[in-house]
Amino acid sequence: MENVIDFDEIDEHGPQTYAAAFTDISPTDVDRDEVSAVGAVRIDARAEKAGDAEYVVDGTVEFTADFNCSRCLEPYPFANTSSFHVRFRPRPAALGENEVEITEAEELDVEFYTERSVPLRDLALEQVQLSIPMKPLCDEKCLGLCPDCGANRNRESCRCDKPAGDERWGALAGIRDELAKKRQV
Ligand SMILES: [Zn+2]
Ligand SMILES: [Zn+2]
Repeated sequence: MENVIDFDEIDEHGPQTYAAAFTDISPTDVDRDEVSAVGAVRIDARAEKAGDAEYVVDGTVEFTADFNCSRCLEPYPFANTSSFHVRFRPRPAALGENEVEITEAEELDVEFYTERSVPLRDLALEQVQLSIPMKPLCDEKCLGLCPDCGANRNRESCRCDKPAGDERWGALAGIRDELAKKRQV
């Protein structure tokens, strides 16, 4: 079958390479409020057997998306390429469906399988999810929204805005007062 990593095929014919692009991945699939649109997601991968019933998949995932900035809430474009390395092991019989047993730190990239095939779309989606920052920002220096009136401070300065640098001058004035007090003592 196409777009599926088939472990039986690897057993039979050796390492396999895959290339696929998905244009049907939606923000709902990604399940993050900050994502407003997902463009084409491209995956390139190579899979091989790595021991008894164990398979290693290496590859890269490339995608574009529109995120909403978590400070100013404006949409902005995002593009990312990430490489991945996943080790598939048969799920131990004692382990339940949603339990994950992590034995060593280096085994964080282990995934347990019950079926001997992995849809490339699932792998691609997983990498997209991992690539989304905890707090997406349109710019590191994004000024965000005014907490009082909701104005976007990147575009306008609202009336509740204090003049820029006010706080710093305030701190300096405080130091000056302290120094003055010390001199008086
Ligand atoms: Zn922003
Ligand atoms: Zn304001």
